[in-house]
Amino acid sequence: MKGRINLTGIKVMASHGVFSEEKASLHPFIADAELYIDELERGDDLAGTCDYGTAAEIIVRELSAPSVDLIETLASRAARGIAVTFGCDCSVTVHKPEAPLSVQFSDVSVTARARFTRVCLGLGSNMGDRKKYLDEAVECIRADEENKDVRVSSYMPSAPYGGVADGEFLNACLIMRTLKSPHELLDMCANLEGAAGRVRKEHWGNRTLDVDILFYGDEIIGEEKLTVPHIDMCNREFVLAPLCEIAPGYVHPVYKKTVKDLLAELKRRGR
Ligand code: ATP
Ligand code: CA
Ligand code: CA
Repeated sequence: MKGRINLTGIKVMASHGVFSEEKASLHPFIADAELYIDELERGDDLAGTCDYGTAAEIIVRELSAPSVDLIETLASRAARGIAVTFGCDCSVTVHKPEAPLSVQFSDVSVTARARFTRVCLGLGSNMGDRKKYLDEAVECIRADEENKDVRVSSYMPSAPYGGVADGEFLNACLIMRTLKSPHELLDMCANLEGAAGRVRKEHWGNRTLDVDILFYGDEIIGEEKLTVPHIDMCNREFVLAPLCEIAPGYVHPVYKKTVKDLLAELKRRGR
């Protein structure tokens, strides 16, 4: 059963604020949190749920950290801390009832929401130790605490695409939940390619590692720097075939068809 854990009224005396007087004294910060749980009770066992004692400690740790200017910062850090620890969506509200305002008021608060999105990536390599490049990229993705439940397809050999590269490719797809925004995820892809020593000479050329974003939830993004779903994925068997192993029912948000159906269509067209 899905559910929510509510934690309210966690109080810390601290000196966050924009003004120097605020930084020189202690005043109250009060936090509430909501943790969204997919499976609320797994056998009446603390290990199977989110331990709200630990969540409360994360909030106290963030609110007690060295002084920052904004309660936005405190709320975001606490929400992220809880989300990466438990792998659940979470929102944190930080109240500052004694904020220095020139009018009478009872409270001011900010709510930050940390939300995981299901994403699919396509990986490819056609230079050097191709398997090692793919393995290392997957290992880095798994080691990043903002990514959870990483599942990887088998590695499939395929002929070069687009008539520029010459060596055979090894391709794979991956599905996971991530806290990263689309552009943070694109930066992660570029960093992985950089770590593999990729040098960009020509479009579709030889590469040690290529990491593309295929799907970001059901979002449609049409920027030059980032087009999602990937603009050409439906024409590529080396994308759809590994993707179909791990996410056959994922619905393409533009074509409204599953990966399994898109692969079948591509094979029919190819014949
Ligand atoms: P293709 O995108 O056709 O597979 P490629 O992967 O060889 O070709 P790159 O040279 O790796 O192309 O990337 C060129 C640019 O594409 C990147 O700098 C990036 O900003 C942009 N881009 C746009 N949409 C995406 C996406 N969904 N995933 C990754 N990069 C993208
Ligand atoms: Ca590519
Ligand atoms: Ca690319």
